[in-house]
This record gives sequence, structure tokens and C-alpha cells, in this order.
Amino acid sequence: MRRKSRILLCFAVLWVLGIAYYFYSGTTLSRKDDWNAIDSSNQAQVHSNADDKTHSLETLPPGKVRWQDFDQDLYVGATVVRPGQDPYARNKFNQVECDKLRMDRGVPDTRHDHCRHKQWKTELPASSVVITFHNEARSALLRTVVSVLKKSPPHLVKEIILVDDYSDNREFLPLCICRLHHVVDTSTGLMRSRVRGADAATANVLTFLDSHCECNEHWLEPLLERVAEDKTRVVSPIIDVINMDNFQYVGASADLKGGFDWNLVFKWDYMTLEQRRARQGNPTAPIKTPMIAGGLFVMDKDYFELLGKYDMMMDVWGGENLEISFRVWQCGGSLEIIPCSRVGHVFRKQHPYTFPGGSGTVFARNTRRAAEVWMDEFKNFYYAAVPSARNVPYGNIQSRMEMKKRLGCQPFKWYLENVYPELRVPDHQDIAFGALQQGGNCLDTLGHFADGVVGVYECHNAGGNQEWALTKDKSVKHMDLCLTVVDRTAGSQIKLQGCRENDSRQKWEQIESNSKLRHVGSNLCLDSHSARTGGLTVEVCSPNLNQQWKFTLNLQL
Ligand code: UDP
Ligand code: MN
Repeated sequence: MRRKSRILLCFAVLWVLGIAYYFYSGTTLSRKDDWNAIDSSNQAQVHSNADDKTHSLETLPPGKVRWQDFDQDLYVGATVVRPGQDPYARNKFNQVECDKLRMDRGVPDTRHDHCRHKQWKTELPASSVVITFHNEARSALLRTVVSVLKKSPPHLVKEIILVDDYSDNREFLPLCICRLHHVVDTSTGLMRSRVRGADAATANVLTFLDSHCECNEHWLEPLLERVAEDKTRVVSPIIDVINMDNFQYVGASADLKGGFDWNLVFKWDYMTLEQRRARQGNPTAPIKTPMIAGGLFVMDKDYFELLGKYDMMMDVWGGENLEISFRVWQCGGSLEIIPCSRVGHVFRKQHPYTFPGGSGTVFARNTRRAAEVWMDEFKNFYYAAVPSARNVPYGNIQSRMEMKKRLGCQPFKWYLENVYPELRVPDHQDIAFGALQQGGNCLDTLGHFADGVVGVYECHNAGGNQEWALTKDKSVKHMDLCLTVVDRTAGSQIKLQGCRENDSRQKWEQIESNSKLRHVGSNLCLDSHSARTGGLTVEVCSPNLNQQWKFTLNLQL
């Protein structure tokens, strides 16, 4: 009986909270599907609806307004793109399209159906949302902030901390929305700025977002739930795509994990068939990921501090996601993508800011710092893939090394075996490794097996049929299949055959600064000119581009 009445009471409380949230967030059911510009009469209606109900829920501090009352047109209007100006110049995305949209536009609910019926815990730790920005478009920043306020249960967002990382125009500050705190940074670089924001945060959980995001329905609860259960989990939403040209919000695939190649550039890995099959029964289960994209994630504040925040000697952008991913996994935590949480992000092709000394140098320096601290002897595969990185000074790493020791972190070998078994590791027999690239095309088995021909296909950087190694015993191998010259005359086809020791038809060497592959017995070169018609052949060596092949990673200098 007592149990029953307690359950009833629970339902009553939930119902009241639900109604309160419904009015507070100023959402009406009819607007859910409307995901482009909202017409202003409709919006005015919504505002007056919300007006009556929310004043009693929150008293406004002086100088602050509710986001619903914020004058978007005045704020965004001050920095519009003038006729004749390039809409991409300032932000490297189309600012005209970005400025056109309302700060609270709807976006399509891109979650899996199963997520819509899920009940999220309401008793979750509140979070401080930290957004760093450098010269962000006002409309993008405002929409990020408003989407957080609008799409989160109010009691779960204690504050939003905007860290202005040395923007040229500090007039960003008139964004005086409720629960918004500004931190002005005087050093540059998103790592140091995020730490500034985290240090200023007063909630127990940190949520990092880029300054051009839009949160989707119930994005926050599933993330907080995972961290509340276990504070060593560092969790990311699925990152949907906000198109940089037209700002359409497009759902991203739920079958991706974060990964990298030996060049240590972040990439999305499509799950293997077995992994996808295993997920069919439970599409909302968390996805363990070797790497996070880096801009959008939730982490317990104490754990963030315990684990060494960020490497404060990294500059501007890049490499920090690699570093925090290795660190979390190797030092006892885990990284997850939570499929029921979705947040849109404007992906763009260039950075709208400059890097002192050039973006390549800064990226290499940051990446080197991560590699030197976390990768042990495996860092040499990075240097083999990006030889120029060896010449970039990376500063002092002593304090990070000491921290790693203090935390008793696992070696990189453990990470490779337990977290990222999909990453192919060159073995001690290999001279060169990875994809064999010719321009944008790569040597490809085309799915053939023994006695099949080989061809080329656009490089996909996903290993698989494009993964090759040149070994010390001179074979060019894909698994246990070797490139074989069946007939030693020019124009003859190359076949895949099982590797045989001491078979001269399978012996190759790199010549001319590792730019060509020559068959040892015939002195003919691997050639792609008839790739489209009959498969690769050997031909008389020539300067022709059809004979230029480059491994991703050359361990032979
Ligand atoms: N950012 C920053 N300081 C910098 C560079 C970037 O605060 O020196 C911010 C930037 O405004 C954005 C986030 O860091 O909010 C990530 O940068 P960006 O979006 O350019 O990286 P991407 O998403 O393309 O990886
Ligand atoms: Mn970004």
C-alpha cells in the first residue's frame, strides 16, 4: 500500500515537472516539425504563452533577459554581410544563410525511434556548458546558446560559460541572456580557453560545445545519465551535420566511431559488419569509441581535473582530441558516443583564423606532444607517416610525463590491443605499410582473392581492401595474398596469389626515393594504365604517372 502511494506521488511530481518544463521551454507541439525559419506572428504567440508562466519559475538577475526576450535582430543585425562582401570571408561558412535563421529555429528530430520512447532520469547532476569561441558569427553563437537553453531541462544547465578567446571584436559581450557567464581569455588557443571555462564552472559536470552547434531533443539527459552512473565515462553525442553552405540540419549516421590513421588525423570509422549486426538488437546502446571528435563532450569536472585537464602547452587548435582520448583510455576511463543524444555542428573545410607559424606547424607540434607523451615506441609509425613532423619542435613534456606516471596509465600497446584493435599495426617485417597511393587512387584488391587481378579505386582511408605492406623479404602483401607477376613480360597482368617464400615472381623493391615499385626478377614496374580495363600490369619503367606509388608509411628512410 505504502509502495503504491509512493509511486502515485512520483507520477504526480513528474506530471507537474513535465507541465512546468513544457511552458518554460516555450515550445508548442505545432512547432516541433517546423525546422526552418519560424514566421514572426507564430513566434510572438509562443512568447506571450511562455511569458505568463516562467516569471514565477526564475527571478531574473539585473541586466539579464530571458532568451525569449532577447533582441536577435538588433544583435545579429550589427554584423551582417554587406552587399558585395563575400559571405564566407569572416567565418568560412555562409554567414548570410546563418544570419537568416531564427535563434530558436526547429531542427528535425534525428534520433532513432527507440530514443523517443525512452524515459530519462530527472535526478541528474547539473552541468556547466562551456563554449569557447574566437571571432564567431553572432547568429551562430546565439543559436548555440539558445538551443542549449531551449533543448535542456532547465535544472540540468546550471550556467553557460562563454569564453571569448581573444576575438578581434569584444562587442560580443552584449549577449546578456540569463544563466550566461562570460569569461574573457587573454591567451589564445581552444585548449587553454576550455580550461579557463572549466575552472570558472560551478557545476559538477562539464559540457563542452563548439560555438556553432544546435542541440537536438533531449540531447543532454542521456549524456548526463552515463556520467552520473560512472564518472570515468567521457561521452559525446552523435554529431549531426549543419551544412556550411545552406545551414540545413542533416542527421549523421549512427554507425560511426572516431578513429585515426598513423598520420594521427581524426577520421570517422564505419563500424564493421559484425559490430553493426550486434547493434541491431539494441540501437540505443552506447558506442565505445577509440577517439572523440573533440569539440562536443561531457565529462565529470573532478575527473577532468584529476586526469590533467588539457595540455596547456598546445596552441590554437588540433591534436587535443587525440591527447584527451589516449589519456582517458590509458588512464582508466572510457569514451562513448551516446546514440540518443544528437547535436548539430557546422563542419567546414577551412579555419577562419590564422595559426602563428602556419596551421601545419601548429597541428604537428600539438600532435607531436600527444604522440611523445602517450604513444611510446609506436610514435615512430607517426613519424614514418609524417616525416616532416620530426623537424617541428614540441617543447617540454616533462610535467605531462610525470602526470602519466602518477596516474599509473597503461602503455599504448594496451590501448591498441584493447581499444583500437581495428587499427592495423605494421609488424617488424614491414618496410612500408598502409595504402599504396597514386594521386587520389589507391591499389585495391577489388574484393578479389587468390588468382584475382588487382586494380585501383578512390582512396577511402579505411584500410580493408586498400591495406598493403612491403616486407623485408620483398613481398607486397595484403593479408596472406601477395602481388605476383605471372609472366615476366611487359604488359602482363598482376595477380593475387598466396604468399610463397623464395618465389621470385613475388619479389618487389621500392626505387627512386620510394616512388615506384619494381619487380626484382624482370626489372619491370607496377603500372596502372590498364587498371580500368583488365587490372594492373608490369611495364618497362618510365617516368609515367601510372607508375608512381606511395605507401602511407615508409619505415625505410
Ligand atoms: N576556438 C577558440 N580558439 C581558437 C580556435 C578555436 O576558442 O584559437 C574555438 C572555435 O571558435 C570553436 C572551437 O574552438 O568554437 C573549435 O574550433 P573549430 O570550430 O574551428 O574547429 P573544428 O570544429 O573545425 O574542428
Ligand atoms: Mn567547430
